Amino acid sequence: MRFLDQQFKHLVPYVPGEQNATEKIIKLNTNENPYDPPQAVIEAAKDAAQTLSRYSDPTCKEVIVPLAKHLKVAPENIFLGNGSDEILSFLFQGFMEKGVQFPDITYGFYRVYSDLFHLTATEIPLRDDLSIELADYQGTETVVIANPNAPTGIALHPEVIGAFASQHPERLIIVDEAYSDFSDVSMVPYLSKHPNVLVVGTFSKSRHLAGGRLGYAVGASEIINDLNTLKFSHNPYSVNAMTLACGAASLASQDYVDESTQKIIDTRTWTIQALRELAFDVTDSQGNFVFAQHATIAGEKLFLALKEKHILVRWFNQPRIANYLRISIGTQSEMEQLIQVLKEEVQP
Ligand code: PMP
Repeated sequence: MRFLDQQFKHLVPYVPGEQNATEKIIKLNTNENPYDPPQAVIEAAKDAAQTLSRYSDPTCKEVIVPLAKHLKVAPENIFLGNGSDEILSFLFQGFMEKGVQFPDITYGFYRVYSDLFHLTATEIPLRDDLSIELADYQGTETVVIANPNAPTGIALHPEVIGAFASQHPERLIIVDEAYSDFSDVSMVPYLSKHPNVLVVGTFSKSRHLAGGRLGYAVGASEIINDLNTLKFSHNPYSVNAMTLACGAASLASQDYVDESTQKIIDTRTWTIQALRELAFDVTDSQGNFVFAQHATIAGEKLFLALKEKHILVRWFNQPRIANYLRISIGTQSEMEQLIQVLKEEVQP
């Protein structure tokens, strides 16, 4: 028997990468941080566990105040949510009356939220080199781009986004910066000039907290207030007490975060070089992942061969990118094992 409303009958949900903690695997499929969280975060989670008989603080000031300081904005310019996914869902639910435009190849949840909220969504094709060309985004719709984009890792310069935002002052431009800490691009320093730009960020990647679920939005206080109206109409406690404590401890452990980010960037450089030597075409990724296709061997074949050797990567069965693999950057040793297996596959 099915009781689900007719309107959701054909909804195709997002398919997350496999989470398999039981087997001994090298997990390079969900762009997580391969390094443990800082010790201070682990201690903060333990301490916060003792407060769990109380609701979490719905104002989230424990994280908003130090995050504002870190990003050099005011606390009223920040909103927190249960992962950036929750924030994106509020944005798709509440800020897209005129429809939405996003790239045809990007984070899969944009399409899922568009369908969930019955939006008029237009997918704008990436250019042949897999880059986003903002001149292609004419109209009145809200624009959503990931910068760096996923799964390509290719980034637009903030000034290019700023110029587009100035040309379209009536449109909301949402920039998903999930991976910006691994790049040299961020719109955050430009936000005071562009009140129609909203940046969405996450603690899941550079801050080691994917399982904690903590995301943020940065932008004009009017937009932040509207996001709070939506949050307080859903679940004021969507960010739980342990996660708030972990988020604050993460911000207090900036040196550790910077150090592991740098290790990931260095390993990314090494991995791109090693893949190119094996005749892979690799994009210039600025994320904590690489996006690569082999000159002759199909993406699916390599995906399955790696899986057989207990290395999980992501393969998208999607036009234009079906030959690519998206490979998260693990530790240096994990990437060396990946390259070893690929070497055996491509040079038998
Ligand atoms: N945006 C992009 C581009 C992503 O790749 C992801 C996660 N893979 C998210 C947002 C969501 O991140 P989270 O909900 O963990 O903050």
